[in-house]
Amino acid sequence: MAREKVVEHYDVVIIGGGPAGLSAAIYAGRARLKTLLLEKSLIGGLATYTNEIANYPGFPDAPKGEAITNLMKEQAKNMGVDFKLTAVSSVTLEGEEKIVETFRNKYISKVIIIATGGRSRTTGAEREEEFLFDKGISFCATCDAAANTDKHVVVIGSGDAAIEEGMFLAKFARQITVSVMHDEGIMDCNEIAKQAALAHPKMKFVWNSVVKRFEGDDYLKTVVLKNIKTGEEIPVDCDNCFEFIGYLPNSELFETQLPLTKHKYITVNEKKETGIEGVFAIGDVTDKWLKQIATAVGDGAIAGTAAERYIAEKEIFDEKIMQKEKTGLIYVYNAIDPESRNFLTEIEAIEKSNCGSLVVNRIDTYKSNGLALKLGLEKLPAAVITKEGKITEKIYDLSTALISSKL
Ligand SMILES: Cc1cc2nc3c(=O)[nH]c(=O)nc-3n(C[C@H](O)[C@H](O)[C@H](O)COP(=O)(O)OP(=O)(O)OC[C@H]3O[C@@H](n4cnc5c(N)ncnc54)[C@H](O)[C@@H]3O)c2cc1C
Repeated sequence: MAREKVVEHYDVVIIGGGPAGLSAAIYAGRARLKTLLLEKSLIGGLATYTNEIANYPGFPDAPKGEAITNLMKEQAKNMGVDFKLTAVSSVTLEGEEKIVETFRNKYISKVIIIATGGRSRTTGAEREEEFLFDKGISFCATCDAAANTDKHVVVIGSGDAAIEEGMFLAKFARQITVSVMHDEGIMDCNEIAKQAALAHPKMKFVWNSVVKRFEGDDYLKTVVLKNIKTGEEIPVDCDNCFEFIGYLPNSELFETQLPLTKHKYITVNEKKETGIEGVFAIGDVTDKWLKQIATAVGDGAIAGTAAERYIAEKEIFDEKIMQKEKTGLIYVYNAIDPESRNFLTEIEAIEKSNCGSLVVNRIDTYKSNGLALKLGLEKLPAAVITKEGKITEKIYDLSTALISSKL
């Protein structure tokens, strides 16, 4: 018989313990939200795969990625965040109670923050696994270009990312050999990037080629390319190899519930909100321009803060604004609009004349738009009448007589 899953309740469940998830955990924990972070392999995420992080502000000695993310973890723990090392196997995002399931547990949460990151596509060539990350095969020019000063590097790919990153590498490296699978002169990047790369004195191209094999002892020494038309093997001795053949966001768990871009990234707005209320997404799993630790932790700060605001507004909305005891009048206005501000006097008069039988709430959208959005208003200012916790009228042509007649 299948074992019943243990049910636990949280304010915030964060899926993924990379820099984005850890930062969100620090902010959510500090806001005194009951927070759980779930990580399926290593706390610290992709950043733990590198021996030297030279561009994360505040760490001039370029420590190991793990050293930085361990501090983030400690900080989150100090804020009271719970950690569990387990993979999330399914989620239910719609509805007030979000559900996150692992092998043994079912977590019910007010908010879910998705921080599952992604992975670089690899070539699948022979012995590739032996040299990944710190052993000679890299996926990030921003991270590793400076370490390749005066070196010979091989770049795999000819899309926009490959050529853009290759041009950046050319500022440091002595020579760049670019492996392109197409016929001479055909590349996947835009025309301007292509012309600049073809004209660059440090860039050399091997057309019609794919990687056959990686060779070396403890560290990569040779990338053996293969001409796909003739079958000829072309060994290229080098110091490092950069693969830029695509990036795969870890978004499979969410693809039937959230809208994704054609490359499977989750789209979010400025507050890291997805299309579903109470569900946020951050870091490399989202459609963003720069995938780095600094931007991941920025995303986490925003989502942790937005989650706190969402929960607080929801509580006010459910308990105060949509109260069931009396008839309700909700006046939604913008304090910087004089006309809508002036109508507050009329609202006060209505409140006085219905003293004891009416609950009046005033929502200034200049301070926060979230509550107004929940009311589904077409324009502002507006007066909303509620009876037994349900909206009965939305009034846009404001007059004391009209509002009073609907109470
Ligand atoms: C080799 C390498 C070197 C790099 N060097 C630098 C550098 O020098 N400077 C820099 O700023 N950036 C660097 N980066 C980029 C940086 O590491 C990433 O941009 C950053 O880690 C993204 O953070 P994230 O939290 O969005 O995702 P990730 O770090 O990818 O973390 C996502 C986490 O989610 C977990 N997860 C996924 N699915 C599930 C699931 N179903 N259940 C539970 N957990 C799940 C994963 O196991 C992972 O730990 C480097 C990347 C690599 C690969």
